[in-house]
Amino acid sequence: MSVTPLAQACTDTKQELTLPSEAYRQAVDQADLAISITDQKAKILFANEAFSRVTGYGRDEIVGQNESVLSNHTTSGEIYQAMWGELSAQKPWSGKLLNRRKNGDLYLAELTISPVVDSTGITTHYLGMHRDITELHQLERAVQNQKHLIESVVDAAPIAIALLDPSARVLLDNLEYKKLVTDLGVKEPAHMLLDSLAPMWRESLAGNPKGCSFFNREVRIDRPAGRARWLSVTTSVIDMQSNCADSYFCATGQPGLLLAIADVTNLRDEQERTRAAVLQAVLAEEERTAAIREGLSAAIFRLEEPMNVMASAISVLQRRDPAAAEMLQQALSSSREHLESLRKVIPQSPQEIVVRVNVNEILRDVLEVSTPRLLGAGVTVDWQPAATLPPILGRPLQLRMLFKALVDNAIEAMNVKGWKHRELSLTSAVDHECIIVSVLDSGPGIPEDWRHKAFEPFFTAKGGSGRHIGTGLSRVQQVVADHGGIIDLDESPSGGCAAIVEFRIDGDPI
Ligand code: FAD
Repeated sequence: MSVTPLAQACTDTKQELTLPSEAYRQAVDQADLAISITDQKAKILFANEAFSRVTGYGRDEIVGQNESVLSNHTTSGEIYQAMWGELSAQKPWSGKLLNRRKNGDLYLAELTISPVVDSTGITTHYLGMHRDITELHQLERAVQNQKHLIESVVDAAPIAIALLDPSARVLLDNLEYKKLVTDLGVKEPAHMLLDSLAPMWRESLAGNPKGCSFFNREVRIDRPAGRARWLSVTTSVIDMQSNCADSYFCATGQPGLLLAIADVTNLRDEQERTRAAVLQAVLAEEERTAAIREGLSAAIFRLEEPMNVMASAISVLQRRDPAAAEMLQQALSSSREHLESLRKVIPQSPQEIVVRVNVNEILRDVLEVSTPRLLGAGVTVDWQPAATLPPILGRPLQLRMLFKALVDNAIEAMNVKGWKHRELSLTSAVDHECIIVSVLDSGPGIPEDWRHKAFEPFFTAKGGSGRHIGTGLSRVQQVVADHGGIIDLDESPSGGCAAIVEFRIDGDPI
């Protein structure tokens, strides 16, 4: 049979590719890994150079010994049992053992043992490969200790800390931050705070992280029950090294946003108490001035009625009795002059500058100032603020007067003898670029046909006690309009009055 040139070439190539057994032996001998081959009872038959280097035993000393000569006898028996269990089942085993060198030094060995199985299926030998990983282990421990230390320090910090990656995931936080999650009842307080303090933070974080770094910005968190909470937030951008394999040769980093959140509620409460006392005095003064203003306006309004009658009488008398008409005209002119003088002494409302106002703060102030009246009238308050509100541009005193007037009206409506259900519900919410405040009472309500009239000056549905001259709601409407908003009266779910005030977030006050 003739051999084709192609078959001959393949045979030649195979012969060239066969590894001489000597090369094989040298490769194992010179490998930089401690290699040993044992019999079935772990008696060493062969050990390479690296084995001698690692263990300190010369080749002649070690051959014929059991591998157990390396044992420090402190590795748990369970580990050996597991090892031999695997090997008996002809499976390789890998693990870490504490070994002792010839000179008595201990080292941590990372060992892999593979059974060598002959053609009849019997384990004839074991191949052991190990390396000294003591330094690596020390390094790992040092990193772990460092990590533990950092975590302990971060956890012991009296401020909440959270680190966000560019996709806004929280990579690291501390105990105080976890407490915030429970206290505020939100999944990620960091997101909520950033939404409130830097609305474009997500876009910034991905593209220009420096754009969302700021220092000590305060945010007020309102909760239905309990006092408002004040948090001061500082953010800074830090570089984080990537641990992905593809960044092994080029140290690419990614920015992280570190939030440090301090609770400044106590400090703020202190300031608030002082402010509330001043505010109470300012509001009382403004109310007194407003009462004088309204009293005088009402007096002028009422005096104008008889003067109009006099003017009609004059035109009738002018033909019949010119002398009497002349006298009456003089009296009318002098009355008009007095009325004008009276008009001039009406105190003007104070001129306030426009500032950024948090409507929740205004409502809180109003509730605080109204507490004695609410308690006196036995009214329970259901305060449901939006957790955070964007600011609007406005005049704080005017806004306080506006909501105080609505709360006063509500209290008055419910504070009648025999009226049982007395509840004031105050809510704030954000909806379609608007801040909506609802003041709902459980009083008798305003009949539908009176709801528009209620905003007319001097309209009053209250009895003739003389105290009510009906300028409250017209003034309220004026303030709302001055702030570019709208107000509506409706029926509350309990049948009482619902006053709904809406301000545009970007609305300009007049
Ligand atoms: P041993 O009396 O040797 O035995 C401990 C447990 O293992 C006992 O429960 C026993 O029943 C079981 N066991 C022991 N020999 C066998 C066997 N042949 N078949 C089934 N079960 C058995 N140990 C180290 O500490 N360091 C090493 O670097 C190391 N390298 C090894 C490399 C190879 C290739 C092999 C095969 C084993 C190696 N060993 C090593 C394991 C070693 O042989 C000993 O089992 C171990 O050191 C425990 O020794 P000992 O004298 O305390 O207990």
